[in-house]
Amino acid sequence: MNINNNSIVSKWEEYFINTYSQPDFIIDYGEGSCFFDTKGNKYIDFTSGYGVSSLGYSNNNLKTALKNQVDKLLHTSNLYFNGPVLSVGEKIINTSRLDKVYFCNSGTEANETAFKIARKYSSDKYGEGRGTIISLKDSFHGRTMMSLMATGMDKYHKYFYPLPKGFKYVEKNDIEDFKNNIDSTVCAVILEAVQGEGGVIVLEKDYILELVKICKEKDIAVIFDEVQCGIARTGKLFGYEYFDVKPDIVTIAKGLGAGIPIGGVLVNEKFSKVLGKGDQGTTFGGNLLAMVAASVVLDEISKEGFYEDVLEKGDYIRKSIENFNSTIVVKTKGMGLMIGVETTIESNIIEEKARKKGLLVLTAGKNVLRFLPPLTISYKEINEALEILKDILLEVN
Ligand code: PLP
Repeated sequence: MNINNNSIVSKWEEYFINTYSQPDFIIDYGEGSCFFDTKGNKYIDFTSGYGVSSLGYSNNNLKTALKNQVDKLLHTSNLYFNGPVLSVGEKIINTSRLDKVYFCNSGTEANETAFKIARKYSSDKYGEGRGTIISLKDSFHGRTMMSLMATGMDKYHKYFYPLPKGFKYVEKNDIEDFKNNIDSTVCAVILEAVQGEGGVIVLEKDYILELVKICKEKDIAVIFDEVQCGIARTGKLFGYEYFDVKPDIVTIAKGLGAGIPIGGVLVNEKFSKVLGKGDQGTTFGGNLLAMVAASVVLDEISKEGFYEDVLEKGDYIRKSIENFNSTIVVKTKGMGLMIGVETTIESNIIEEKARKKGLLVLTAGKNVLRFLPPLTISYKEINEALEILKDILLEVN
């Protein structure tokens, strides 16, 4: 592309609705778990594009499968069956041990669908007036209107009036607050096993066990939003597996497509017949390229040792950072390759310094660095990234 760095920002401002603030370089290609910009500069990617590029940028199985599909056919819509959707449906049900799946295009759309399923189940059984969805404070569930309302952070709600009704927020890990907020209008609760945007916070097992028990007693649907922490990110297929619970509805997206847009909703048997023909639809959901990508991802993560590898690498990164003994590191958190580093200084200062040295990281709130590297990242790349982090974390000591 023929754009020099000075004109990137002005082009962006001229042509685009300005919802992001990107740094002034253009990413050209990826290799391993790194990006290269148009000037040849390398950036180790601890973001995976918000947890999407689960297989990094050099997975030959993924590339070949996608290229083959491009030559064959791109789109059928759900008017007709296609081979890849049938194959991924079977794979995801066998791997997840849930009962049925519905494919869509993004995490927010998956959550919207989950809410529709929970509300329809409730109105079919109890009639109107039982549609409230409880979510946790500091949660993030997406940007479309219902998912936005389920998101437990006020900053995302303002401006977009009138806001959809039927959402309530409770303190995480506070079972009394949850109990106090259950009334006859509640149909569902939505949770992230590890809150990503909210600061890489792992929910407490006892809290989840008690919450799920109460929900089962009261016929309230338990929805786990596994959009960010699912698909092997935490070292298990789903983050909720750490709590030994069985959700009713699970939403997935991001890493399942490894770079191709995808979303999905998995339901247990109880919720498997709530939606019938015509109750929900999507033009692109189950798209051939997305299904081909998901098929490769599911094959790759089921290879022997994959989950152990994710866990080992995650522990290695956390331990290494702790061993820097930097006075600005308060603690490391997260599970597997979903990593948080709480610091005493603002995380965006560190993010910018890291970027200038060739390492891309995410932030989660004011004081948490968030790392979501490709699950296939090599130890060589990890060590290079750790060297950069060490310099920064000790320099600003
Ligand atoms: N849920 C969680 C936990 C997320 O982290 C995100 C995105 O960051 C979403 C939902 C929304 O997903 P999408 O951006 O694909 O709509």
